[in-house]
Amino acid sequence: MKHSYIGAKWVPGSDVYRDVNPSDTSDVVDEFSLGDEALADHAIDAAFDAFKGGRMLGIQARADALDKVGSELLARAEELGELLSREEGKTRPEGIAEVRRAGQIFKFYSGEVLRQRGERLDSVRPGMTIDVVREPVGVVGIITPWNFPIAIPAWKVAPALAYGNCVVLKPAELVPASAWALADVIGRAGFGDGVFNLVLGRGSGAGQAILSNPKVGAISFTGSTGVGARVMAAAGPRFAKMQLEMGGKNPLVVADDADMAVALDCAIQGAFYSTGQRCTATSRIIVTSGIYAEFRDALVERVSRLRVGHALSPYTDIGPVVSEQQLRSNLEYVKLGSDEGATLVYGGTLKDCETKGFYMEPTLFADVDARMRIAREEIFGPVACLIHAKDFDDALEIANDTEFGLSAGICTTSLKLANRFKREAQVGMVMVNAPTAGVDYHVPFGGRKASSYGSREQGSYAAEFFTTVKTSYTHH
Ligand code: NAD
Repeated sequence: MKHSYIGAKWVPGSDVYRDVNPSDTSDVVDEFSLGDEALADHAIDAAFDAFKGGRMLGIQARADALDKVGSELLARAEELGELLSREEGKTRPEGIAEVRRAGQIFKFYSGEVLRQRGERLDSVRPGMTIDVVREPVGVVGIITPWNFPIAIPAWKVAPALAYGNCVVLKPAELVPASAWALADVIGRAGFGDGVFNLVLGRGSGAGQAILSNPKVGAISFTGSTGVGARVMAAAGPRFAKMQLEMGGKNPLVVADDADMAVALDCAIQGAFYSTGQRCTATSRIIVTSGIYAEFRDALVERVSRLRVGHALSPYTDIGPVVSEQQLRSNLEYVKLGSDEGATLVYGGTLKDCETKGFYMEPTLFADVDARMRIAREEIFGPVACLIHAKDFDDALEIANDTEFGLSAGICTTSLKLANRFKREAQVGMVMVNAPTAGVDYHVPFGGRKASSYGSREQGSYAAEFFTTVKTSYTHH
């Protein structure tokens, strides 16, 4: 049985969680004790005391500790990647790549520690100088989803620590093994006691405690838009700093002049890799009329070649859905799509595999009307909608006609169309001839509208959220 990590100790919680492999439900990954509100408050106290007590390392030691975490993650990428895939269901190469990504992120922020920020400015008043510096916020509460169980905690925890904060991480209930493994690596890297804390627990208990505890100065959340709204409702009235990364309904526009092979790769990778369980997944493929029929037929053929199976099998392109509940939700959307009048051109049913797991076929609807619920709501599974657009203007309008605004892609060979799409797509990230999912780690990440709230994540832009600006006036 594994526990939460608080004040440099492994502390048991009151509830037990059996972590089951979604590829094979007879395989229990591990057992974890889950904490409640009281345990989360205990972790917040530990972080608060560490911050007040100045236990965060000086910048050289901090840079070294972050580097150490990065090195260990890179060195153990295969082992931890397999654990991640066994727990979450993404394929083994995807699991390993995710752990490598987390290692690279820690390395990046190791360098960031030494990049000093601040400036001295002249005052409009004689005899006065002004210093503008960035200080850590204090205790940062980090709440993460299950779909990138190591990379998302890493891309929040690493900058939080780099910029001098103390951290309480509450990962998603479904993926405690990945979070525990990350905490174990961070715990041995030599940050001061209480500087980094992990609370395993449910959103409604431990998560809610992080939102309401006034010792938590900033909350970085990634998850669904519905829960994001709850985070805002709970932490907003006490004016906590907030960064919310939420859902998406990301469009890929395929223009008449697109390179067919490129467009098919973008659609397949964007919609179905990681079982479609990515906030940046392509869920609306908007195709202009000149190429629609040809593209639809070619895409159905490509989808039919995707192999669904155990996450750790070398023959698998698409692993299982993360949980039975998510599987049920996906299948309800499939039924809804058919009821709404969309044409199911591939998949839509459970998939029998050698092991008992939460498998479904990659699913493609064609002739989807942009007003249908399957074209408007985030499904978060291997389900994509093909939408017929009259022309490029129509496609652009459909692409932007959504409450979300995370990423958007276009496949075209026209520089003019690509540039227009880059200008007019109402999203945080635009991909030209590249899948909507798949981002670098050293550049800003985030979106608009109901997809994101607050400042950008990743790269040096993360300093905006994890620091606060102080202006000092000195009279001589
Ligand atoms: P979720 O919203 O159900 O849960 C996210 C986290 O919030 C979990 O740790 C959960 O325990 C916690 N939580 C739930 N209720 C809470 C409450 N009342 N108070 C405090 N915490 C609470 O999301 P999920 O199912 O884990 O993840 C899938 C969602 O995440 C999708 O909507 C996806 O688009 C989104 N996501 C967004 C991004 C992005 O960067 N925009 C990245 C990955 C995933």
